[in-house]
Amino acid sequence: MEVHAWAAKHRGAALEPLCYELGPPEGHDCTVKVRTCGICHSDLHMVDDDWGMTRFPLVPGHEVLGEVVEVGPMVRHLRVGDRVGVGWQAGACMHCRDCLRGEENLCDHTRGLIVGHHGGFADFVQADARFCFPIPEGVGDDVAGPLLCGGVTVFSALRHAGMGSGMRIGVIGVGGLGHMAVMFASRLGNHVTAFTTSEDKAAFASELGAAEVIVVPRGKEPPAPKRPLDVVVNTVPAPLDWASYLGMLGSDGTLCFVAAPVDRPIAVPFFPMLSKRRRIMASPIGGRSVMREMLETAALFGVRPHIETFPMARVNDALEHVRSNKVRYRAVLTSADRA
Ligand code: NAP
Ligand code: ZN
Repeated sequence: MEVHAWAAKHRGAALEPLCYELGPPEGHDCTVKVRTCGICHSDLHMVDDDWGMTRFPLVPGHEVLGEVVEVGPMVRHLRVGDRVGVGWQAGACMHCRDCLRGEENLCDHTRGLIVGHHGGFADFVQADARFCFPIPEGVGDDVAGPLLCGGVTVFSALRHAGMGSGMRIGVIGVGGLGHMAVMFASRLGNHVTAFTTSEDKAAFASELGAAEVIVVPRGKEPPAPKRPLDVVVNTVPAPLDWASYLGMLGSDGTLCFVAAPVDRPIAVPFFPMLSKRRRIMASPIGGRSVMREMLETAALFGVRPHIETFPMARVNDALEHVRSNKVRYRAVLTSADRA
């Protein structure tokens, strides 16, 4: 089939139309007709080749919601017509130690949907069907996509950093990932402190469930929360005052990175970490079992990303809206002929 997509032809470029042929799906793969696709900041990092792994032309888009239109010969659990979502991960080896323990996101042979492969800013996309997730009823087409990357990333990070209920959770940045982190952590019964540089986001963060909101002017030292935090998750892709955030943690507290501050190593003083047995960790997306748990939690507790929709043809406006931090809170592209 012929695919119509939007692609960056070189580093930092505006997206332009691109057409290519997609063969029938092989093995475990399936073809999904894209109805909507969220814009994650990782799409911008890839357009800008911040991580040095972009292959151009790049078709971004890895928060896909669509309909299965073709399945490969090995696919048993999905049928044509199923409504599925696809996130960052498009495949894994499925037999290494990490895959066998349900942590496919840690597989050495993980395949990214937009790494050397065309993503979801297109009318069709292909991925391993084992990474195409049925979406619970009640989670609408427009809001489902952002859960598939942004949602699972913060949910998995918070879980692996030790979040349960009744804890004090800090979230740095109220963007796409951050606003979902506030919702997941608060709906699951935690006291959430949100840190934002945008004054207008403070009231909204409270509405989402934050019990405390701290506005931090850009480049300034963040004021401390009222009480020490158990987990702080960072969703800001910029160098911040990590020593201050580390100092906000109580004993055994964890500072967890999901955003990648690309331009500088993370430097923190050693003794504040040692004296309170604090930890620093980072966490990539989430495996298949966490994806299922996240989707069920979102359906059960009404976690719905707050979105602004743009027709696919306005993809460059939408990308600029995200880049300039004007988006509230996730941009979602809608295909022209969505069902
Ligand atoms: P986003 O929607 O653009 O949100 C980022 C937020 O960071 C902004 O809304 C803003 O929040 C804050 N911010 C941006 N620039 C800042 C600066 N210079 N100083 C201080 N604050 C700043 O991005 P996103 O889609 O949530 O993604 C966030 C990061 O997570 C990106 O680096 C992305 O690549 C990464 N990510 C990682 C994974 C993973 O697997 N680990 C998965 C998905 C995304 P305020 O206005 O509230 O300050
Ligand atoms: Zn993403």
